[in-house]
Amino acid sequence: MKTEKKMKRLFRGLAALFLCGTLLTGCAVPGGTGSTGSKEQHYTGAHLCMGTVFSADLTSSQEDPITTLTEMGNALEQTISYRIDTSEIAAINASAGDPEGYPVSEELAETLEKALEISEKSSGAFDPTLGALTTLWKLDEGAADPEHYNLPAREEIESARNLCGYQKVRLEEGRIYLPAGMRLDLGAIGKGIYLNRAKLLFEGPYTRGIISAGGSILTLGQKGEPPESAPWNIGITNPLDPDGLCGMIEVRGGMCISTSGDYERYVERDGVRYHHILDPATGYPVSSPYGSVTILCVNGLLSDALSTACYVMAATDPERAIELAHSYEAQILLIDREGNTTGDLKLLKLP
Ligand code: AMP
Ligand code: MG
Repeated sequence: MKTEKKMKRLFRGLAALFLCGTLLTGCAVPGGTGSTGSKEQHYTGAHLCMGTVFSADLTSSQEDPITTLTEMGNALEQTISYRIDTSEIAAINASAGDPEGYPVSEELAETLEKALEISEKSSGAFDPTLGALTTLWKLDEGAADPEHYNLPAREEIESARNLCGYQKVRLEEGRIYLPAGMRLDLGAIGKGIYLNRAKLLFEGPYTRGIISAGGSILTLGQKGEPPESAPWNIGITNPLDPDGLCGMIEVRGGMCISTSGDYERYVERDGVRYHHILDPATGYPVSSPYGSVTILCVNGLLSDALSTACYVMAATDPERAIELAHSYEAQILLIDREGNTTGDLKLLKLP
């Protein structure tokens, strides 16, 4: 990815954190004594992971949370990225068509079961088997170098679409069976899985702050110390002008917030925006009256999967997208092309 693009993404990744307090990259500021007995310190840091910026701004008495997060993120990417040849997902993809299937780890099996359940409940709007399509579209590369990007041909899209389809996956007794040519792509849930792991590592009395992974954020504890503590204000990227924010949402600790939008990675040709969220029903990027969909709930995998699923569904049926979010006890915010909002998650004015 070009440096300029990386910097832009770094800026966007950090924009949400500005509302939470001053960001001092890579430093630890000594504070009071935490309940673990060790000193409470302020830590901030950012690193590139899963093709985007992961960052954290934490006050913790746990030892070096930034290194713990960086190592955990890298290890997770080594397991779930189809782009890394040695990952478990790459091995599963390489086994496609093998009647013996492939042994899948318990943790990944659980994740895939949940992903397939959301595929079912969203009638295929969310589909973790779109790898053949996403590798054909190459929108990551296109967004990084739009001048040299070539749109795939309709016939290529149709052939790739025939290799996709969550209904064709079998997950039985610790083995996964993919039909020939199918490729899993967990790009829509990777960041959410990371936030769930971060929550397990840090939720509790010893850490408060914000952990951000691309378009997904985890809040821990309260902002500030009692009696002045308050909920977190999370900035929402303006889908009409993604370098800025269009408002904020107020969030208590222990919550995951994910936003999916057509402004993240895209190429424009003849006035059409080809972006990274694909409609599994057509094989093309979703064409929607909405610029973004934000989901708030307690679980990162859910918030991440639902933001993608609801972005796809809302293009044709916003009521069903809202129903899907509510069926998982998640709150939802849809922002249209005029900046109007729908849903039960309130967008507050910036201070
Ligand atoms: P997100 O930014 O979380 O909405 O996820 C988008 C990423 O998920 C894309 O870059 C693709 O790798 C993958 N993806 C695209 N469309 C879909 C879809 N309809 N269902 C599941 N994953 C998708
Ligand atoms: Mg997602």
